[in-house]
Amino acid sequence: MTILQEVEKLVVRLAPEPVCDACLTDTLGLSVLHHADHAVRELAGSNGFELSKDECSLCGETRMVIRRR
Ligand SMILES: [Zn+2]
Repeated sequence: MTILQEVEKLVVRLAPEPVCDACLTDTLGLSVLHHADHAVRELAGSNGFELSKDECSLCGETRMVIRRR
């Protein structure tokens, strides 16, 4: 599975709760070198995925998060 697919699967599982890049990276056990943030940006705007500045459902920080409507 690619990083993009792993990120997509997790965001779908959490939907409609938003999640930030850092939590995606942690939850998927990725290193920063996997660039989960790039996957997030690739996902955004397709299939109902959207980026916004909001409270992450996992860490509670207000930052850029992705969710699926
Ligand atoms: Zn978070």
